[in-house]
Amino acid sequence: MHPFEYARATDADQAVALATADPRTSFLAGGTTQLDLMKDGVLSPARLIDITRLPLGGITHTATVVRVGALTTMEELAADPVVRGRVPFVREALLLGASTQLRNMATIGGNLLQRARCRYFRDPTVPACNKRSPGSGCAAVTGVHRMHAVLGTSDHCIALHASDLAVPLTALDAVVHIRGVHGNRAVPLTRFYLPPGDTPHIENVLLHGELITAVEIPLPAEGTRSHYLKVRDRVSYEFALTSAGVALELEDGVVQEARVALGGVGTLPWRCRDAEDVLRGARADDEVLRAAAEAALEGARPLPGTAFKVELAKRTLVRTLRTVVGAPS
Ligand code: FAD
Ligand code: SF4
Repeated sequence: MHPFEYARATDADQAVALATADPRTSFLAGGTTQLDLMKDGVLSPARLIDITRLPLGGITHTATVVRVGALTTMEELAADPVVRGRVPFVREALLLGASTQLRNMATIGGNLLQRARCRYFRDPTVPACNKRSPGSGCAAVTGVHRMHAVLGTSDHCIALHASDLAVPLTALDAVVHIRGVHGNRAVPLTRFYLPPGDTPHIENVLLHGELITAVEIPLPAEGTRSHYLKVRDRVSYEFALTSAGVALELEDGVVQEARVALGGVGTLPWRCRDAEDVLRGARADDEVLRAAAEAALEGARPLPGTAFKVELAKRTLVRTLRTVVGAPS
């Protein structure tokens, strides 16, 4: 592990100023991604700015929004009664991620900014990784890529976005609140992440030194039903092969409003607006649910190792929709 300096920030403006002044700094929240990557030699910041003492925890509610401080832990958000009652698929996504120990350390800001689980990205002895070393190539395209993406990929990177939480938050149009040296801004999660294109090392719209301060989750209409389904190689402590987060407002079996996102298949948490269009206004029978799943995977670009994911993702979505609709699965 490279030597590094450690500084504990005492307020958010100071943290932002310190980080912005030096491109070799990183923030430290729960440390469950950041420290792993430093120990593996993938990241080597000259300075870590510990943000854990900043007043960025806590969850507040209005009638229409849950506001989650960036330092709220995954376990704290999963235990929130409004999340449990109104958007249970957020809770499900949280509790299907990592382990209890990790969820008690891991923060919501850190979760949204977790880095790729690509084995080549995480192994600095592999020379070809455009995300770690821009312009070096992509070892995964011709290598082992079973855990990689089929949507939003480019010739330069096919790494997945691995967050479970980001899937329901994308479906709900959550908003990320950001503080920088020039003030505050708010960015919808659907515009926060950037597709890899030919710059896979630039993963989101944050500028160096900008701090996530909070995430706002808009609440869907009362009575909206939701579910998050995660398909994985083993039943716990494993990332998704495919996942789906669905929220539906139903009236007499007809879909009034639909929110659909997929995980495990996209280079970003994947919002499925075409699937939503198929569902909205339709009677939620099996034919419509399958048509929605077909629409969701329309743009998939599988490689040999990821070909199985296309049908698996369709079935994952159909099964999630059936659960929400209340059909026997
Ligand atoms: P840190 O590690 O402290 O930070 C992560 C990154 O975000 C760093 O770059 C840091 O500089 C930056 N950062 C943190 N907070 C802020 C902020 N407020 N503003 C700006 N930048 C910030 N996740 C899942 O979704 N599903 C899983 O199944 C899953 N399984 C896992 C299994 C293991 C073994 C491990 C180690 C992790 C797993 N994770 C999983 C990922 C885990 O959820 C993340 O590591 C965690 O949420 C990151 O949060 P943190 O607070 O520890 O972030
Ligand atoms: Fe690197 Fe992306 Fe290729 Fe993985 S998929 S080796 S992260 S460029």
